[in-house]
Amino acid sequence: MTHRPPLGAPAVWQTVMDRAGAHCQCEGGLCGNQHSKTGMRCINGTAHGRLIVAPADLTLSPVAAAAVPVEQLRVWCADCHSKAQRRQLASKQEQERQQADEPLALF
Ligand SMILES: [Zn+2]
Ligand SMILES: [Zn+2]
Repeated sequence: MTHRPPLGAPAVWQTVMDRAGAHCQCEGGLCGNQHSKTGMRCINGTAHGRLIVAPADLTLSPVAAAAVPVEQLRVWCADCHSKAQRRQLASKQEQERQQADEPLALF
C-alpha cells in the first residue's frame, strides 16, 4: 500500500480544490437548498468564505472519513457543509429509529 496523506493534509486539500475549480460542489439540494438560481449547484468559492474538503457522506466518523479516497472527496462551502451534515444526520437517525421500531418477533 502506498502512503496517502491524511484527510485535511494540504496536498489532498489542494488536489480536491483544483479538481473542483475551488468552489463548493454541493448540488441537487444536498444541503436543502436547490441552488436553483445557479444551475442547481452552489457556486460559492473562496471569496465567499472558508471551503471544506469532506466526503459526500457527511455522517462518517473522522476515522472513516480519513479513509475515503481522494476521488470521492468533494468541496463544500461552510454553509452547505453544515446544512447538508445536519440533513444527513437527521435522515440517518430516522432510518435507525425505523429499524429499531420494527418488531423483533417477525420470525
Ligand atoms: Zn455551497
Ligand atoms: Zn448547497
